[in-house]
Amino acid sequence: MKIPKNHPRYNSLMQRELIEDGVKRGIVTQTGMIAHGRGEAFDYLLGEKTNPEARKQIGAAAAMLVLAKRPVISVNGNATALCAKEIAGLAKAIPARIEANIFYPPEKRRKIIAREFAKLGAKILGTKPTKKIRGLGSARSNVDAEGIWKADVVLVMLEDGDRTEALRKSGKKVIAIDLNPLSRTAQKANIAIVDNITRAVPMLEKKAGEFRKKGEKLLRAKIKQFNNKKNLDSVLSRMRKGNTK
Ligand code: ATP
Repeated sequence: MKIPKNHPRYNSLMQRELIEDGVKRGIVTQTGMIAHGRGEAFDYLLGEKTNPEARKQIGAAAAMLVLAKRPVISVNGNATALCAKEIAGLAKAIPARIEANIFYPPEKRRKIIAREFAKLGAKILGTKPTKKIRGLGSARSNVDAEGIWKADVVLVMLEDGDRTEALRKSGKKVIAIDLNPLSRTAQKANIAIVDNITRAVPMLEKKAGEFRKKGEKLLRAKIKQFNNKKNLDSVLSRMRKGNTK
C-alpha cells in the first residue's frame, strides 16, 4: 500500500510496513509483530513524538555510551527491520560493537540479521555465540565472547525484563529503549529511553557525536544527575494527562 506522505500517522504506518516486510524476509517473528503492536499503542499515548523526558534520557544514555570501555548495541529482528541503517550509524558515532541477539528461533535469524547489517557495510557479532549469560532461558542467553560477554555497557531495544535483569546481575550497565514506561525492562535498566527506536537511535547518534568532543567530567556529571525512576514517573504522568496529537 502506498502511504501518502501527508497522512497524519505516516511514520507509524511506515513502521507497520517495515515490520510486515521483516516477517516476510524472516527477520522478524510473528511474536515480534505483537511486541510492535504494544509499542505502537504506547507511542500513540506519547503523541508519537520525542518528549522532554526522552531528551534527558537520551542525553544521559549518550554520555554513558561514550564513556564506556566496551559498549555493545544488542539488536533483534524488530530493531533490524525498523532501523538497521540508523543503528549502524550510531555504532560508528560512539564507537560500539553491534551484536545480534534473538529470543525466538530459528537460530538462522542471527545470520539473516547479520546479512542485513553487512549490506550496510557493518560487520556485527552474534552469529557464533560461545558464551552464556546466567539466569536466562532461550537463545537470548547465548552471547559472543568478544561482544556482550565482555561489554561494560549494553544498549538493548524491544527487550523483556528478564534479559535486562540478567545483564545487570552479570555486572553490566543497561540502557534500554522501550516505549512502555511500566515495563520491567524500563524499570530495571540503568537508563530507560521511553521513545520509539526510529526516533531515539538517530538522536543518540547525534548526541554521541557531540559528546565525543566533550570532557569526561561533564559526561560523568550528566550521568550522575540522571534519575531513572524520576524520569519514568514523569513520563507516566505525561501519559495520564493525555499527550496524543
Ligand atoms: P517486560 O518483560 O520488560 O515487562 P514485555 O513482556 O512487554 O516487557 P517484550 O515483549 O519483549 O517484553 O517487549 C517489547 C517492548 O518493546 C514493549 O514494552 C513495547 O512497548 C516496546 N516497543 C515495541 N516497539 C517499539 C519501538 N518501535 N520502539 C521502542 N519500543 C518499542
